[in-house]
Amino acid sequence: MAFALTTSSSSTAISGSSFPRSTSSSDLKVPQIGSVRLPERHATVNLSRRRCAVKAVNADPKRNDSIVPLAATVAAPELLEKEEAEDFQQLAKELDNASPLEIMDKALEKFGDDIAIAFSGAEDVALIEYAKLTGRPFRVFSLDTGRLNPETYRFFSEVEKHYGIRIEYMFPDAVEVQALVRSKGLFSFYEDGHQECCRVRKVRPLRRALKGLRAWITGQRKDQSPGTRSEVPVVQVDPVFEGLDGGIGSLVKWNPVANVDGKDIWNFLRAMNVPVNGLHSQGYVSIGCEPCTRPVLPGQHEREGRWWWEDAKAKECGLHKGNLKEDTAAQVNGIGNGAASANGSATESDIFNSQSLVTLSRTGIENLARLENRKEPWLVVLYAPWCRFCQAMEDSYVELAEKLAGSGMKIAKFRADGEQKEYAKRELQLGSFPTILFFPKHSSKPIKYASETRDVDSLMAFINALR
Ligand code: SF4
Repeated sequence: MAFALTTSSSSTAISGSSFPRSTSSSDLKVPQIGSVRLPERHATVNLSRRRCAVKAVNADPKRNDSIVPLAATVAAPELLEKEEAEDFQQLAKELDNASPLEIMDKALEKFGDDIAIAFSGAEDVALIEYAKLTGRPFRVFSLDTGRLNPETYRFFSEVEKHYGIRIEYMFPDAVEVQALVRSKGLFSFYEDGHQECCRVRKVRPLRRALKGLRAWITGQRKDQSPGTRSEVPVVQVDPVFEGLDGGIGSLVKWNPVANVDGKDIWNFLRAMNVPVNGLHSQGYVSIGCEPCTRPVLPGQHEREGRWWWEDAKAKECGLHKGNLKEDTAAQVNGIGNGAASANGSATESDIFNSQSLVTLSRTGIENLARLENRKEPWLVVLYAPWCRFCQAMEDSYVELAEKLAGSGMKIAKFRADGEQKEYAKRELQLGSFPTILFFPKHSSKPIKYASETRDVDSLMAFINALR
């Protein structure tokens, strides 16, 4: 059944009880949400040149590890198999002047059931409204960090009722939260920064969710954070997270409101009579976890209401870390210069934390490299905690270590940035972060893992071929 959309000068009403069949974007009618700010230059679209193949929807069992399938709405129709590779950099250029509704429609059309809207419980409810207006089935997920305001939980419920959907909540790992809180207390982020807590409560659950998708939709806007979001394109190959097929480049990120001003989002929400989070009427603009979000005064930038005790340019929680530009070239190459490494050391806590992993000191790895007759083979990752590619492989590497615990195969890490970098480049074949080396049982020469696919299965295949 198709819904009817009628508008008048004073009100807008939508009626209908279920989604219509596919509607072409050219047929879509929606009130304009005001002026769409055009980007100043196309060169600001910061996309990977890597091409991404969009494959047919399939019933990949891996999805069971991430978002609960189809919990949000209605099953999407099967997509026709598309064999051609898609150039998302080009698509971003083509869609740069498109309306959010057109962009949303294109995203849902392309990815069907393999895409979901990331909903924070704030004004990004506009994304859900746009998705509904396309008439296509859509999915919504949200990260329940356990630290949200009561108003946000009530708002989630209201949104579910309003749209007749179930939000697919993602929760943090209970053991990780327990370890963090028991060792550092409930408010450690005020002392040593929000990254560690955000990693446990947000980034890892997000990573799990995205591993079940081929694309996601965010409410990022260029005007939200001048330091980190000023170059957000409307669509891009996700520079940080991995999708269903694994590996960097396997996930597409859509930002339909990238070019829209905050005030125009609000005009749209009012025009469509969309429910909003009660915190907005108390002065909150940006909404996140209760301890890390506060109202802002008129004239204050919305990001001043988040992690206000930290530096203004380091306010991404890790969900959109690809936006961070600290020494971008160095980071992309995986080898930071001294300044970048120093920054990373200061703001990033360590990664690959597991009792199944051996942490090698400089002496430790020197001894390992010298041994000609090792008792057991070793796999060692040379890493830097601030490197986004290292962060992206963290879960799979830890899982690998836990899987191989007690098997006679040692899994280890060696932090190779800063003053260790020259040594690692000279002696350990370090070219970029992460570098993974296999030290065989009976040979002194380590073998370098050449692939950029760093999931557990690929690493296991590498190990099994050599040990
Ligand atoms: Fe933790 Fe604050 Fe990050 Fe929420 S926003 S996950 S409470 S540091």
